[in-house]
Amino acid sequence: MVPPSSIYRGRLAPSPTGHLHLGHARTFWTAQQRARAAGGVLVLRSEDLDLSRSRADFAAAMLEDLRWFGFAWQEGPDVSGPYAPYIQSGRWEYYRAAFEQLRAAGVIFPCTCSRRDVQESAGAPHEAPPGEAWTPDEPIYPGTCRSGNPAGRPAPACPGTNWRFRVPAGAVLKFADGHYGAQSATAGAHFGDFIVWRKDDTPAYQLACVVDDAAMVITEVVRGADLLLSTFRQLLLYRALGLAAPAFYHCPLLTDEHGVRLAKRHEALSLRSLRDQGRSPENIRAGWR
Ligand code: GLU
Repeated sequence: MVPPSSIYRGRLAPSPTGHLHLGHARTFWTAQQRARAAGGVLVLRSEDLDLSRSRADFAAAMLEDLRWFGFAWQEGPDVSGPYAPYIQSGRWEYYRAAFEQLRAAGVIFPCTCSRRDVQESAGAPHEAPPGEAWTPDEPIYPGTCRSGNPAGRPAPACPGTNWRFRVPAGAVLKFADGHYGAQSATAGAHFGDFIVWRKDDTPAYQLACVVDDAAMVITEVVRGADLLLSTFRQLLLYRALGLAAPAFYHCPLLTDEHGVRLAKRHEALSLRSLRDQGRSPENIRAGWR
């Protein structure tokens, strides 16, 4: 039951680590509108990779809040579909297989640096060149553990260590964003070797996201602009795994009255609180125009 790739397939990919807020609703609304305008399918995927922060009550609230706001999906954790399961904690075997593929290809290496080691010796990422919509998001990994595994040689299995993807230093990566237009970034300068598998034996977001978007035949990823730089990392993973990358459309982020990006800590702007305050989804959306 594989749909032809000419069918638009979009997705909503929230993490059940808190209550959804206005910022999620705004980005997801764009995703839903784009799927509808294309006569396509919208997939809901619960991204509960972070087992210590994800909670069943947040996952239940997430579905309820999305429905209340007017979202409807054709495939998801509650309705299933051809690419089930639609919950990341049920998809470990796919992530593991992708990890093994990367390891066999020699493009990842085990890294014993602690977070603190990396912070102390990492280089500050170069600022984005003028005209780019993305902003640097993390220090550049200094390459400490890179040489233990020269490119092309599979690294030994190393339980209890992080695994990083060796980015092709100096390579300029490009993609055409559906909203922001042409984007480019230089591997090694704007982002460094990034984690694909964590020392607690869980897949990292970058890997899981690519594996799932490919497996679920997503044709366009609509998400917040905070993930623009991650798109370059993910493009490297698509290439290394021999997978076709989807199109990308990043949405501007909502900010609070102080210009601070909305986050799950803005509980007053959660969809739950707004509903409790008597706000209606129509009324909320009217404020967006
Ligand atoms: N689950 C991620 C988040 O809630 C979104 C990932 C994505 O859209 O690629 O931030």
